[in-house]
Amino acid sequence: MTALAIELVPCLSDNYAYLIHSRDDGLCAVVDPSEPGPVRKALAERGLRLTHILNTHHHFDHTGGNLALKEEFHAEIVGPAKDRERIPGIDVGVDGDTPWQFGSRAVRVLEIPAHTRAHIAFVFTQDNAVFTGDTLFTMGCGRLFEGTPAMMWDSLSKLMRLPGDMRVYCGHEYALNNGRFALTLEPSNSELQVRMADVRALRAKNAPTIPSTIDLEKRTNPFVRPDSAEIRHTLNMAGAMDVDVFAEMRRRKDAF
Ligand SMILES: [Zn+2]
Repeated sequence: MTALAIELVPCLSDNYAYLIHSRDDGLCAVVDPSEPGPVRKALAERGLRLTHILNTHHHFDHTGGNLALKEEFHAEIVGPAKDRERIPGIDVGVDGDTPWQFGSRAVRVLEIPAHTRAHIAFVFTQDNAVFTGDTLFTMGCGRLFEGTPAMMWDSLSKLMRLPGDMRVYCGHEYALNNGRFALTLEPSNSELQVRMADVRALRAKNAPTIPSTIDLEKRTNPFVRPDSAEIRHTLNMAGAMDVDVFAEMRRRKDAF
């Protein structure tokens, strides 16, 4: 089995959709198409025919291209089973107990609620890639629109149990702002400093900072580092529970 090709498709102002294609079985999926235009163009440039649309959650900037692309390519739409009524055009609902098959590949579904109540991640184990939507970002995490801090902490913890070298493909280019916030909490984290220098250089060229890896997030993303002594010192929360430290960081980020 040859490796899947994964390609970024910038959409709207700071969204990323992703094309996932496999030469072996002629399949091509798009993850979270915000709008049809850039996806259609990326497919045409590569001579690909869309067979599947994958949605991590229902927000319009992740599903806005669903209906037009489905009509044009007769693509099958796969999304969270627990949110069928909010996913435009959904054909197949998946959840933690219902893995999905992309041709010959078994794709694991992780239920990671809090940004929305039925948010999911798609884990391509053989290809070492996870699509995290608006739950885990480069050095950040999503806002808590439909869940509690405890739910988000549980969801992020699930993602952190994936293999360290697994590549992380998230839904937005937020690295610069997230990294600036991270440095307010953990200014002495040398790996964070190095990473921010990389991010600044990439963004100065308007280049993407994607993908990350699970390990890189563990070392630089404050939202999965509530056990960091420096973060706890900054927040004056030395003896607090991880979930409470996480909640305080999320509150501060909302006002950053
Ligand atoms: Zn969202």
